[in-house]
This record gives sequence, structure tokens and C-alpha cells, in this order.
Amino acid sequence: MTHPIIVIGAGIGGLSAAIRLRAAGRPVTILEANSTVGGKMSEIRADGFRWDTGPSVITMRHVFADLFAAAERKLEDYLTLLPVDPLTRYFYPDGTRFDALADRAAMSATLRAFAGESDAAGYLRYLDYARRIHDITGGVFIYNDPPTFWRVARTPLRDIPAVDPLRTMDGAIRSFVRSPKLRQFLGRFATYVGASPYLAPATLNVIADVELSGGVWYPQGGIYAIARAFERLARELGVEIRTDTPVSRIDVANGRVTGVTLADGSRLDADAVIANVDVATVYEKLLPRDAVSPRPITRLTNVEPSCSGFILLLGIEGQHADLAHHNIFFSRDYRREFDDIFARGVPPDDPTIYVAITAKTDPGHAPDGGENWFVLVNAPALDERYDWSKNVQAYRDHVLNRLAEFGCDVRGKIRVERRLTPVDIERMTGARRGALYGVSSNDRFNALRRPHNRARDVRGLYFAGGTTHPGGGVPMVTLSGKVAAQMVLADSPDRV
Ligand SMILES: Cc1cc2nc3c(=O)[nH]c(=O)nc-3n(C[C@H](O)[C@H](O)[C@H](O)COP(=O)(O)OP(=O)(O)OC[C@H]3O[C@@H](n4cnc5c(N)ncnc54)[C@H](O)[C@@H]3O)c2cc1C
Repeated sequence: MTHPIIVIGAGIGGLSAAIRLRAAGRPVTILEANSTVGGKMSEIRADGFRWDTGPSVITMRHVFADLFAAAERKLEDYLTLLPVDPLTRYFYPDGTRFDALADRAAMSATLRAFAGESDAAGYLRYLDYARRIHDITGGVFIYNDPPTFWRVARTPLRDIPAVDPLRTMDGAIRSFVRSPKLRQFLGRFATYVGASPYLAPATLNVIADVELSGGVWYPQGGIYAIARAFERLARELGVEIRTDTPVSRIDVANGRVTGVTLADGSRLDADAVIANVDVATVYEKLLPRDAVSPRPITRLTNVEPSCSGFILLLGIEGQHADLAHHNIFFSRDYRREFDDIFARGVPPDDPTIYVAITAKTDPGHAPDGGENWFVLVNAPALDERYDWSKNVQAYRDHVLNRLAEFGCDVRGKIRVERRLTPVDIERMTGARRGALYGVSSNDRFNALRRPHNRARDVRGLYFAGGTTHPGGGVPMVTLSGKVAAQMVLADSPDRV
């Protein structure tokens, strides 16, 4: 008898895997602990305001179009992705600012005025360099199965210097632009995977290509529209989605997955299980102890996590014509900021502050005359060095005071407020230590060490999500669902 493929978790990676499998004719059931789908992608509403609580910057539109095409649907019938222009507005402590633009010529002109001829030319050379990294590494590290030693080894020798694995991101950026402000701007892309530009390998400059050349997209209605669109497509295809259904154990017999046990004690048989759960949590909490050796557990739980975040959701009275949809208020000393996060394990004393206002594009997200601010500051993943319960109010005040120094004083205009610390992020999403993007990318070997999408020691168990290949971020986890689904299909081709 054929049992369904069970997907544990209706995060973006889980939904993506389920859509692919169902489109290939397999019966699929998703079991989700929360009462809604989306995982870290979530939304809340209060007093006429609406906020996304997780991701806010969406890139790589083609990844979403590809998923819908796999189900013979058109993305635009489910989701309106609007190009965001400017990509982001950058503010510096000395009062200067510029708009990052996807149009090369317009951006070059902007930077010529902002930083001079030489850096504008350096920026264009940097874009070409980042594009080349994307071209070379895309097939090995992003769009296909996890990299193997042999696939990496087949990279033509002449291409290896272009991948730039030995320098840090910042080290490479310095060779293109001299302005400390532009170095800060380009280094910022390390934070898209929760890393530091002073530690992460220069190969990660690929992220800048994805955003600065590929563009940023905003799903009309809010980022959560992506989760809603994935859910709608999955249900239309016949995926069974059971919310409020936590899984307490993955059942294994003779080294092979047989099904899952739910928190209420009931059991479901499965042909295969895809866990859209942090891989370390799967080994630590969901797999029976006698089914796996302790080694992978120690290896998985000991790795450095990506950074977490401190979030303020603010319902603001009044509008700020100076602000764009995405805004960055830079710190004075970027290196010190990352030292605070990764070396000292404390939230930055002088943080770079990100403010997203979806009401700039979707006016219905705030009452007339108001704005919905999503304020995010990078923060260390949870550990014993910092106690959020004692410091939330003071740190919140600190962040708002810094914004006021930039001329954005909203302290007397806040009508609604929600705060999310790394503790809340861990509690609400299951992210270990509140890490936003799974394991850290600060180490140049982490892309090779990332847990495989196919469990090595338990047959029939697969992984999709931010802690497996190809990594964290909405497009990446959408791709991880594709990889996991392809592996299930390859391992059981006769089950259609
Ligand atoms: C604050 C924040 C900001 C971010 N900003 C961006 C951004 O701007 N751009 C971007 O691309 N990415 C961003 N990210 C990262 C992005 O949100 C994640 O990489 C991505 O959404 C993770 O998807 P996932 O498939 O790994 O699943 P997750 O979102 O981790 O979902 C896993 C699901 O599994 C469920 N689950 C866990 N255990 C069980 C169980 N035992 N039984 C049943 N269900 C279970 C959970 O409830 C959850 O719904 C951000 C993340 C956060 C938190």
C-alpha cells in the first residue's frame, strides 16, 4: 500500500517541497504545529496596522516563477510581485544619504555624485565581479543538489580565483571602492545570511549581484502573500495541510522511516518524511535516540548560528516623506557592530537600523495618515552572555533614540507597539537560538558542511528549509524544497 509523503512543517521550504511532490503525482500531507502556515514568514494586525513579522526583502523572482511553472501554473495568477524602486534608501550618521537603484546607469550616476568618479567605476567593476561569482557558483552551490567534492573539483581551474574563496567579503570590497560609506553599503549584504562582512568569505559577494542587479520584489498585500500563494497552490493540487498538528517523533524501523507520531499520541504511516524543521532539532528531539549515532547531534548543535534580530513593530501616527519602502540607518563603526554581535555576544551598542514600511506601497497597511514600521536590528543568537528579559526596554529606547538622531523621531507618535527579541523568535518559529538563517556563513567551509537534504543515516528522511542546502532566506528555502522533492522522486521513481 502507498502511504503519503509527510512534510513536517508548513514553512516556505515545506510548502515548496509539497507542491513539487504533489505536482509529480505523489500524495502529500503537511503537518504544521502552528495554526497558520508560513513559519518565520508571518504577519500580525493591530488597531488598523498590519506588519510582516519575518522576511521583508524578497529577491530572485525566478525561483518563485519556477515553482509555479512546475505545477503548470503562472506565478502572476497567484502573486503580484512589484519591483521596489529605490531598492533601499541608505542614511549615514553624518547626514548624507543615497538611494540604491537596480538600473546600472542610474546607480552609477548616483554614486558618482555621492562618492566620486573612481568609486562609481569601482562599483560597476564590483557588480561584474559579483555577477561572475553567481555564474560560476550558481550551479554548484545554489540551484542544484548539495555540492560534492567532485562537483566542486570539476570547477575549471581558471574560474577558481573568480570565486574568491580566500579573501573576506570586506577584503574584496576594499579592492573595488575606497569610500568607507560604500564599503559599508556593499558589506551589508553579508547580513542577508546573518553573517559578518569581516568574517564571511568573499564568495558571498554573490548576494549583492542577486539584489543590486536582480532587483528587490514586494508581494502586493505584504510578504505573507507568498505563504498564502504557496498554501493556495498546494491545496488546489490536493496537498492535505493539517495545522495545529505538532509532530513529536519520526518513527524509524530497521534504519528506515515508517511514519510519524503526533503530539496527541496518534500515528501516521509515511513512505517518506521531509522535515522542514531545523536539522539539529530533528536529530536532537524528533528522531529516536537508538536510530542515530550521537555524533551528528554533537556536530549539528555545536556549529555557530547565524545572527538573530531585535524587532520593533510600530504603528506610527504621521507619515515620513523622507523615507522609502526599505531604509537603512548605518552605524558609525561597522566593524565594531559585528564584533559586538559575533565576538562579544551582545546587541550592538551602535546598531545599524533597518526600517521597512510596507504602507509606502500598500497604503491599507496603516490607518489614514499613519505608517507601519518594521524595525530590525541585527543581534547575536541566544546564549548566556546576554539576558533579553532584563534589557528589552532599555535597548528599545536606545534604538529609538538612535533613529531620532537621524531626524526620525517617532518616540511621541507610537500608537501600537510589539517587540520581538531573539527569545520570541525562537519560541514562535522554532529557530534554534533565534538564528534567522540557520547556521552561520562566517566560515568559508560552511556551504560544504551544511547538512545534506537527504539524511545519511535514516533512509526515507529528507530535509527542506534554512538549515539545509542551499541555506536560509526565502528564495533559498524555496529551492531547498525543490532539492528535497527531487531526491524523494529519485529514490522512489516507481511510486507515482
Ligand atoms: C526576523 C526575520 C527576518 C528575515 N528577513 C528575511 C528577508 O528579508 N529576506 C529573506 O529572504 N529571508 C529572511 N528571513 C529568513 C527567512 O524567513 C527564512 O529563511 C525562511 O522563511 C525559513 O523557511 P523554512 O522553510 O526554513 O521554514 P521555517 O520558517 O523555519 O518554518 C518551519 C515550520 O515548521 C514548523 N514545525 C517545527 N517543528 C515542528 C513539529 N515538530 N511539528 C510540526 N511542525 C513543526 C514550524 O511551526 C514552522 O511553521 C528572515 C527571518 C526572520 C525570522
